[in-house]
Amino acid sequence: MSLFASVEMTPGDPILGLTEAYLADTRAGKVNLGVGIYYDEQGRIPLMRAVREVEQALALEAKSRGYLPIDGMPAYDQATQRLVFGAESPLLAAGRVATSQTVGGSGALRVGADLLRKALPEAKVAISSPSWENHRVVFTAAGFEVVDYAYYDPSTHGLDFAGMQADLGKLEPGTVVLLHACCHNPTGVDLTVEQWKQVVALVKDRGLLPFIDMAYQGFDKGIDADAVAVRLFAESGIESFVVANSYSKSFSLYGERVGALSIVGANREETLRVQSLVKRTIRSNYSSPSTHGAALVAGVLNSVELRAMWEAELGEMRERIHAMRAGMVEKLAANGAPQFDFIQRQAGMFSYSGLSKAQVDRLREEYAIYAIGTGRICVAALNRGNLETVVAAVGAVSR
Ligand code: PMP
Repeated sequence: MSLFASVEMTPGDPILGLTEAYLADTRAGKVNLGVGIYYDEQGRIPLMRAVREVEQALALEAKSRGYLPIDGMPAYDQATQRLVFGAESPLLAAGRVATSQTVGGSGALRVGADLLRKALPEAKVAISSPSWENHRVVFTAAGFEVVDYAYYDPSTHGLDFAGMQADLGKLEPGTVVLLHACCHNPTGVDLTVEQWKQVVALVKDRGLLPFIDMAYQGFDKGIDADAVAVRLFAESGIESFVVANSYSKSFSLYGERVGALSIVGANREETLRVQSLVKRTIRSNYSSPSTHGAALVAGVLNSVELRAMWEAELGEMRERIHAMRAGMVEKLAANGAPQFDFIQRQAGMFSYSGLSKAQVDRLREEYAIYAIGTGRICVAALNRGNLETVVAAVGAVSR
């Protein structure tokens, strides 16, 4: 008998399963709104102009490829710190931040989770209700008990801020609180700057450990505006926090797996101690990250000209998403479905559309439009070519 005979089938990822069904669908005009990817007007994943420039220069140089340090390429880590915390951040000047290149934002979350499990073995982790499903999976796999805090209010399609404050206020000191910096996945519902200030004060008062996940910096308002949560925590006097960031979306480099984990300590010496534990965590996992994606991002961020080119294109992507949101709301209203106006108030790639599981099933079966059972749709997959089809179908299943 095989030694693997007792291994049972583990359920697959529902979102990836949906993409398989979409690819197998032979109907013309099918649309996949289930993904978490930004597509351009032509329905393609863009290769950004500044990235192409660096890529071509790298190809000409054709350098040999040694190992990177455990915590990655120094030029990448330093550029990341400046982007996430702001170039003028006093935390950087004080040596209170250590940044490690990781295997995507997911890798940053997992390294951060393993680190915190060692540093705070008694702690629980609190995530928003709902959150990106992988948050629960990653922190549970790292050995944490994961609890939820109130976040989304289905009756307003907005934030349940009172519920969120009440739940955060009940957490035990030392609890890790996972917060989405901007463009909340899956709801598209974010905090205002005023609300962030209140959350920062509450987290500080209560002695919680903020773990900020920033996977969409630049996708709503801009590089600095979308990092407001990080900046407010940095200014707050909170001694320790953690930030995971991803370049998958903001550089359109999904498959290169480019992300980073930044840890903030009370002072330079504490930061070095915590960073030594981060390095041990990485070393015992995948040893060191890979070179190419980091070279692309560092090449763009460390050139004044290419960085401006990148920011301009990111701005175009952001504007396109805003235009798709506006177009969808306007066309749905004209289609007799004015109740979707909230889509324009939500931010980033996703919208919790409020469509029920039955309506999502009808969209797929009758109209070849694929969305997730929770009603999450990826507005960044809309374009002028498919918007009419989607609006007509959503209008039809909503009547
Ligand atoms: N956090 C959130 C909220 C995300 O939506 C994602 C990507 N879907 C990630 C982290 C991970 O990003 P990456 O693809 O870089 O691992």
